[in-house]
Amino acid sequence: MFGEGILQGLYETARNFFGSYVDKDRLVTVQYPEERHQLPEATREFPFLLYDGPDPEAGLRCVACQICEKECPPRCIHIEKSKDKKPDFVGKQQFYPAVFDIDVSVCMSCQICVEVCPFDAIRMDNEYELSTSNRFGGLLYTKRELAKPNEYYRKIHPTEAAETDDRRAKEAEEAKAKAAAAAAAAAAKAAQVAAIPAVAANGATGNGAAPKPAEQPADKKPVNQ
Ligand code: SF4
Ligand code: SF4
Repeated sequence: MFGEGILQGLYETARNFFGSYVDKDRLVTVQYPEERHQLPEATREFPFLLYDGPDPEAGLRCVACQICEKECPPRCIHIEKSKDKKPDFVGKQQFYPAVFDIDVSVCMSCQICVEVCPFDAIRMDNEYELSTSNRFGGLLYTKRELAKPNEYYRKIHPTEAAETDDRRAKEAEEAKAKAAAAAAAAAAKAAQVAAIPAVAANGATGNGAAPKPAEQPADKKPVNQ
């Protein structure tokens, strides 16, 4: 019937409108800001940088590889790589960002920076109350403002954070085992090299007997008198 869909829509709207006076579940809005919806775990707003341990500077996971800066569609990430290095979570010396800024006024929350980061260093925050009257400086977030601890990540995205933590712990274990195997191999090789001069010094005499003279060619042998 012509207009049946419209009538069904109007009926549903009326049912929810009048029903909301008696049934709170029919209310689709809340009295913000006094009331707030519980955000779903997959909510994403703008990126933040993760750090481990108590020090945001020393524990920052970012190694300033600049992949996210290159892949960000609106180019709102700005990174300057450090001149020196610091150890990462597996003890490998890595660069770190001397400068890491994100212009949140330009960011489109696409999460590409998160997808391309090989170091689990950047994740999407669910913070959305960022309004400011300072249009430019107020929405340009520096490394200090972007850095948040792993505990915060566990709180806002518990499932994803648990998966990341498990994988990183496994990677750290593997790196540790690999380093131990490499150290053992190097020590064995060093011991082998150190043994060669000792063999050369007394290995020729064996049990201390005088070394045999070199065999002379037949035509140079001394003639018996
Ligand atoms: S979420 Fe998208 S737009 Fe925002 S910083 Fe990351 S890559 Fe750029
Ligand atoms: S956040 Fe990740 S991809 Fe971006 S520079 Fe740091 S380590 Fe590289």
